[in-house]
Formats: sequence, structure tokens, C-alpha cells
Amino acid sequence: SKIKDMSAEVVDSNPYSRLMALQRMGIVDNYERIRDYSVAIVGIGGVGSVAAEMLTRCGIGRLLLYDYDTVGMTKTDAAVQTLSGINPDVALESYSLNITTVKGFETFLGSLKARSSDGHNTGVDLVLSCVDNYEARMVVNQACNELGQTWMESGVSEDAVSGHIQLLVPGETACFACAPPLVVASGVDERTLKREGVCAASLPTTMGVVAGLLVQNALKYLLKFGQVSPYLGYNSLKDYFPTMEMKPNPQCSNPACVQRQKEYMQLKPARDAAAKAK
Ligand code: ATP
Ligand code: ZN
Repeated sequence: SKIKDMSAEVVDSNPYSRLMALQRMGIVDNYERIRDYSVAIVGIGGVGSVAAEMLTRCGIGRLLLYDYDTVGMTKTDAAVQTLSGINPDVALESYSLNITTVKGFETFLGSLKARSSDGHNTGVDLVLSCVDNYEARMVVNQACNELGQTWMESGVSEDAVSGHIQLLVPGETACFACAPPLVVASGVDERTLKREGVCAASLPTTMGVVAGLLVQNALKYLLKFGQVSPYLGYNSLKDYFPTMEMKPNPQCSNPACVQRQKEYMQLKPARDAAAKAK
């Protein structure tokens, strides 16, 4: 019967049913839950636009898009136009704003908590940071620490040949301010601190790989399959994929982070008891 199931997949050209096959093959318990999830993507450039397309093809319920840039029209409106053509079932929200301004930050924060227009979803399930500068990352970090919102960070190095993704759970993992931007010995992670007067290189391949790693991790997190990567680096010159875990810093300069750490520690006995009962 297994062979019969597989052949059914071959004749069925509907891409959504191919995703549903993940369930029949035992990878995910309930693929259809993807429709219940909301994901916010900050930065709709080389990584963010590809990540948005991937989630749209996967049938995500709702996508909130943030960017301050324009390509004739705003980048976020352009993305909504393209994405709605790919999958009209995704609820798309366009926010053309600078998250580092007072007003932009307010709107950003409000939208992450808000109820969707159909009243179905409250808040977002995950925030993906696809911005290209330190200041914007610190702002995403601030918003997520304030809200206790799990997010994933992504970056491509200035020389365009390496990148990384990172899971940030306020109070539980290191936040973006916990550790100073680290330069791993391999040179994998410069955290794209934009240097003044240096024109960063760009490769659509590296950006595509990083977007793929990011969305794969997002799917694993949302649909609860496999192991969610706490940190995954990509060095294309050496085909090197380092992983690591980072604990939060009790002396973190971000007060909201320290507060989330306290809450996390307070709930530790209950968590341990629940884990033991399992
Ligand atoms: P591309 O030219 O490939 O579209 P890019 O060179 O502008 O992209 P990327 O690194 O590919 O840069 O993408 C980063 C995205 O994040 C950009 O679209 C940029 O406009 C957006 N971004 C950066 N900072 C902010 C911010 N503070 N608020 C909103 N969007 C931001
Ligand atoms: Zn911190």
C-alpha cells in the first residue's frame, strides 16, 4: 500500500497535496495547521522576499510584511501583489514603515499583538528578521523581548559567502543584545554590521540558502517536527554548517530581556515537574 500511496503523489500535481503528503509519510502530524499560523517578516529584500514566497507556497495562514523601501511602489505592496498571485488563500498585510522610528516602532509593536481582520488570529506565532543592519535587528529584539515573542534572526555576511539563522526565545535563549556581535573563528558570522563606506556584496544563491534554512526552521518550529536549530551557520566556501546554543546573559543591557529571564527561571520548577511527569 505504501507503493500505491507514492504513485498517487506522482499523478497529483496540486502542490498543496504534495505538502499534505508530508503528513502521510509521517514527517508532520498535522500539516493543515499551517493555515492557523501567522508569521511576521521584517525586511522584504534578498532574504525576506524569498522567505515570504516560500511560506506563501507552503500555505501559511497570514503573513505580515514590513519594509521602508520602495521599488517604484513600496516593497511590501509589491510583495503582496506577487504573493497573492502565487497563493490567494494567504492573508497578507503590508506595513511600509521604518521600525527604528518612534511611530514605526509603535505600529510594528501594535501589529504584532493585533487581531487579524477576520478575528481568527490573535498576535503572530513567529517573527522572522530579514533586515540588513544592526540597528533594525536591535529594534526587532526590543519588540520581541517586550512581547515575549519568539523570533528568528537571519543574516548574510558582507562578502556574501556566508550566513546564519538563529532562534531567539525571550528569557530562554540569548537575545540579540545578550552577547556582543560575535565573530566566530570560522568567519561565518559578522552579523552584517554595516561598515561605513563599504559596499556590501550580494549573492542571490547565499540569500536563497539562508532564506531556505530560515523557513525550514520556521516550519519545524510551527508544525513541531524534527529539531529546531538554535543557531545554524552557513559557510559556502567550506560547506561548513556550524551549530551552537547560546544561553541568555543575566547582565544583558536590555531590561526586557532580564525581566523575561526572571520569569523563565520562576517557571522552571513547574516545567521540570511537567517534564518528569511525561
Ligand atoms: P535588495 O536590493 O536585494 O532588494 P537590499 O540591498 O535593500 O535588498 P537586503 O539585505 O536584501 O537589502 O534586505 C534588507 C531589507 O530590510 C531591505 O529591503 C531594507 O529596506 C529592509 N530594512 C532595513 N532596515 C529597515 C528598517 N529599519 N525598517 C524597515 N525595513 C528595513
Ligand atoms: Zn538579552
